[in-house]
Amino acid sequence: MTTPADSSPSPAALAVAAVRSLSPYVTGKPMSELSRELGLTDIVKLASNENPLGPSPLALAAMQQSLADCWLYPDGNGHELKVALARRHGVLPSQVTLGNGSNDLLVLLAEAFLTPQVSAVISQYAFAIYGLVVHATGAVAKVVPAQVEDSAMPHGHDLQAMCAAVDDSTRLVYIANPNNPTGSWCPTAEVCAFLDAVPRSTIVVLDEAYYEYARRFDCPDGIELVSRYPNLVVLRTFSKAHALAGLRVGYGISHPDVADMLNRVRQPFNVNLPALAAAEAALGDAQQAERAVALVEAGMAYLHRELPPLGVKLFPSAGNFVLADVGAWGLDGQQVFDRLLRQGVIVRPVGGYGLSRCIRITIGTPEQNERLVTSLRQCLTSQG
Ligand SMILES: *Cc1c(COP(=O)(O)O)cnc(C)c1O
Repeated sequence: MTTPADSSPSPAALAVAAVRSLSPYVTGKPMSELSRELGLTDIVKLASNENPLGPSPLALAAMQQSLADCWLYPDGNGHELKVALARRHGVLPSQVTLGNGSNDLLVLLAEAFLTPQVSAVISQYAFAIYGLVVHATGAVAKVVPAQVEDSAMPHGHDLQAMCAAVDDSTRLVYIANPNNPTGSWCPTAEVCAFLDAVPRSTIVVLDEAYYEYARRFDCPDGIELVSRYPNLVVLRTFSKAHALAGLRVGYGISHPDVADMLNRVRQPFNVNLPALAAAEAALGDAQQAERAVALVEAGMAYLHRELPPLGVKLFPSAGNFVLADVGAWGLDGQQVFDRLLRQGVIVRPVGGYGLSRCIRITIGTPEQNERLVTSLRQCLTSQG
């Protein structure tokens, strides 16, 4: 093996300043990594808001069938999936932009609308990718303090303050509804008031990655608002309730002119062949997402029964995960994360968000949730 020559300066110095100042996003720890590190086999991963029921059988069959054609480039326009999505949502295919996960669309929006001369507004505790994609362009990220912990929506986006932070230089606002990692959400009336007040010179990105789970809460269906606000872009994904996280497919619904701009910057084949096939098939299986929603409803109720008696404070969540303050026992979230790892349970530490007392727990199957409760009880009540 050859090692790089020990010459200075490092070639990293050649990278643009905005990139040099980035910290990479930390993903949920993969089960294979934990198994390598600790030799554990029976691992429960509740760290990346995946749907443990897995994808629709229709999606699995469609992706398997597509594999024989994998020597061909996929349809670069994703025509069939776009038509299916447009029909589902009552919009035109020209309003749909497909992405390699909705994460891809977050990047495309930043590339299309941001420069070092303009700004973007995001909330404190917002999904970390927003800050990352804004900073990568060299634009200014204006981070607006979130609602305080003892408010009606702890750690939630303060849409009034975010609106007040928008000025002539602001090209983008990112809103996660509900937000990850806090689970907090913005009610319909507040989102509409925000869209009415924000100038049309600012693109509003409404990230609805957890839309299916959030429907039983007072969250708007952003896609219904797109015809009223030409500056609104709504993002959805097949990664969460549709359980296709490994395939990477998400989409945006917007004014056709915004979609046109996004299509100019995306890679020509940004969504792969099995992903296109599986996503289209998944749309035909309404029950699959409904089962996931029912699982989360029951699992959330279970954790709300079991964890507060252990001194764990749970914050309200409209997603398939919950932010849990484990600080009452004098341990911080990172320490509880480490202890849970040794028991083969992977959750997500959120100290990077400034929530050092907390961990984020994905709702799993009943068996996984029980394992989490048992392990957490042991971590919190045993010394060392
Ligand atoms: C998971 C998540 C996404 C993106 O997921 P993709 O897999 O890239 O579609 C986007 N926004 C939020 C808030 C998320 O939690």
